[in-house]
Amino acid sequence: MINFQYHNPVRIIFGKGQIAQLSKQIPTDATIMITYGGGSIFKNGVYEQVKSALAGHKTVEFGGIEANPTYETLMKAVELGRAEKIDFLLAVGGGSVLDGTKFIAAAIPFTGNDPWQIVGNRVKITTALPLGAVLTLPATGSEMNYYAVISRKETHEKKGLGNPLVYPKFSILDPETTFSLPPRQIANGIADAFTHVMEQYMTYSVRAEMQDRMAEAVLLTLIDEGPKMMLNPTDYDAAANVMWAATMALNGLLAAGVPTDWATHQIGHELTALHGIDHARTLAVVLPHLLEIKKDTKRDKLVQYGKRVWQLTGTDDEVVAGAIQKTAEFYESLGIPTKASAYPITEETVQEIVKRFVERGMNFGERADITPEVVGEILELSLN
Ligand code: NAP
Ligand code: FE
Repeated sequence: MINFQYHNPVRIIFGKGQIAQLSKQIPTDATIMITYGGGSIFKNGVYEQVKSALAGHKTVEFGGIEANPTYETLMKAVELGRAEKIDFLLAVGGGSVLDGTKFIAAAIPFTGNDPWQIVGNRVKITTALPLGAVLTLPATGSEMNYYAVISRKETHEKKGLGNPLVYPKFSILDPETTFSLPPRQIANGIADAFTHVMEQYMTYSVRAEMQDRMAEAVLLTLIDEGPKMMLNPTDYDAAANVMWAATMALNGLLAAGVPTDWATHQIGHELTALHGIDHARTLAVVLPHLLEIKKDTKRDKLVQYGKRVWQLTGTDDEVVAGAIQKTAEFYESLGIPTKASAYPITEETVQEIVKRFVERGMNFGERADITPEVVGEILELSLN
């Protein structure tokens, strides 16, 4: 096992009716900016629950944070937040609203002249406003981590930022808020969480049994409960299990003491930046092909995964092949294609992405051996 430090300060408030806890979590004299997306919170009653829980608090609202939140939109919230002198942010929505709100929290007190530099961690922030969240879409883990992924329309870029200063102070997870999710978003959430686990688990082994078995527990929970939530979106226990699994998938616990890959997310972000494809769908187009290309260096873990998660038997070669196939079939069973040809991804897309990886001068994968050339091979395999 690799040395590690683990500290996660996010208070999770989980269960039905828990939005009512909001006022206890935010100082009474704070001016709160409530942030939200395209309006789902008005249709499913979440907005009313938030407002009634915050009766007596001073609030301003900023809506319209889009899926794959953009710098352009978020800077409008930064202006409003500064003008209203807000001192607390409350994100109400999915990963996009949460991520966008983390950026707003960092950008409001930022005194440098180019807040875009915060994204990609090119300038290190030294302060951020406090934020909390009411999560309505289990997927990203943003509710319990310090990452945010922000897009810039102008330049077709999508980049991450990560800083412990933007950990939410608390996140409220009421599975009933997910009952209004359309099947496509439920599927996306399950696929995103599944891929988060794979990026931290499907590496070389460092004999980290706790981490491996926790990762397998999250994968098995998503595999068992995900389809139940798809079939019946108002099955409370299915939603509760998927919601907690998605949070556990990316709150730092599974990554503590093990190598991580993250190439699938890095490539996926470029596919969203260039073609606007849903985040989770880009991951499904990449991961099975990455596993195929990297099956020799990931062999031991693929065998373990095939046996423990998919109960495969046979020779190691058969288990490896079966494990990759089961992974692709799982995405497909959620209605998520695993071939790039399902999207307007072309040879030019592949060349552009390879060029962007060359410019970045960084390799990904647990052995830093996913070079720009390998990125090209993975995408070619997905295209054909
Ligand atoms: P999302 O982009 O936040 O939301 C997708 C759609 O679902 C939106 O149209 C939203 O509508 C709708 N929606 C949300 N909750 C709903 C509900 N309860 N009922 C009905 N509709 C609902 O989706 P996401 O998958 O959670 O977030 C994706 C983003 O997170 C991507 O930008 C991705 O790169 C990023 N990400 C972040 C991390 C991280 O660690 N921070 C990890 C992985 C991915 P409204 O807009 O109307 O609410
Ligand atoms: Fe993700």
